[in-house]
Amino acid sequence: MNATILDKQLHLTKLMLERQAIVTEHKFQYLDDASPVYFSAYRSDLLGRYLSGNKIFKLAPNLQEYLTTTQSHIPVATFGGSHSNHLRAFSAASRLLRLHSIVFMRESPNGMHKPLAETIIQRGCKLILLSPEEYKHREDQAFLDSLHSKHGPFHLISEGATSPLAVRHIANVFAPFKSQFSHAFVPVGLGGTLAGIVAGLGAETKVIGVSALKSDYSLKSRVENLLRASNCENSGNWTIDYNYHFGGFGKAKPELLNFASRFEAQTTLKLNQTYTMKSAYALCCELRDAKMDSPLWVNTFNPY
Ligand SMILES: *Cc1c(COP(=O)(O)O)cnc(C)c1O
Repeated sequence: MNATILDKQLHLTKLMLERQAIVTEHKFQYLDDASPVYFSAYRSDLLGRYLSGNKIFKLAPNLQEYLTTTQSHIPVATFGGSHSNHLRAFSAASRLLRLHSIVFMRESPNGMHKPLAETIIQRGCKLILLSPEEYKHREDQAFLDSLHSKHGPFHLISEGATSPLAVRHIANVFAPFKSQFSHAFVPVGLGGTLAGIVAGLGAETKVIGVSALKSDYSLKSRVENLLRASNCENSGNWTIDYNYHFGGFGKAKPELLNFASRFEAQTTLKLNQTYTMKSAYALCCELRDAKMDSPLWVNTFNPY
C-alpha cells in the first residue's frame, strides 16, 4: 500500500479518536403516580452513523495500532457472535478505511447469523464462520495457530476490542467529566467500557456496571485486570450489579419491554434489548430507591 493511502487511513483514525460526545438532561416518570427522576445522559449514540456508541472508542485505538505496526498486506481480523455490535462496527470501520479484513464469526445453528453475515460481506470483509464448538477456543493459542495456517497471517483485534489501549482511550474521553457526577450507570458485556469509565471519572463518582449477563462473576476480576494492564488507576469506587439481567444475555421480560417503551417515548433515547434497556431500568430503579445528586447514564448504543 502506498504512503498516501496509509496517511488517509491514519487521518481518519485520528478523527475517530478525537470525537467527543455531548451530555443531555432528561426527566422520566415511570408510573403516573410516581415522582419523576432526573438524570444526565452521555450521548455516544450521537458520535456518528454506523460507527458509534462505545464501539468507536474501542476500535479506533486498536485500528491505529494495526495501521502503525503491521505491514499493510497483512489483514486485520477479529471475532464476534451472530448479533455482535462489535462486528457491526468493525465491518463499518473496515469499509470506511478500506482495510483488508477478516471476520471470524460464531455460526448460529438455526441461521440467526445470516443477516449480520450478509452485512459484513457487503462491507468487503472476508467472512469465516466458526462452529459454536470451534468458537469456544478463540482464546487458545493452538486454535489461533490453526487459523493462521489455514488463512495466512493476520493482525488480531480481540473480541469486543477490549484491550488496554481501548481502556486508556475511554479513560481519556471521560476524564473531562471527572468529579462532575455523583454516580454513573454503564452497561457491561466484557467490561472494557466500564474499566475505562472508572479510570476516567475517578474516585468521586460511584460507577455502577449493569451486567447484561446472568452470572459471569469473573467480570470483577476482568475489570481489575484490565485496569492494571492499562496502567490506569482503580478508584475502587465501582460495583457490578447482577440484578437487572432479566433472564440472561439478550433476554427480556414484559416488565422490561413496557419500561423501555415508556422510557423511549418520554426521553427520545432509543434503547437496545441486550444492554441499554437494562442499564436504563437499573438507573430508574436505583434513583427511585436512593437519592443521587447528579447521576449520569452512559448511552453506549447507536440505533443507526
Ligand atoms: C458492546 C456493548 C456494550 C458492552 O461493552 P463492554 O466494553 O464489552 O462491556 C454495552 N453496550 C452496547 C450498546 C454495546 O454494543
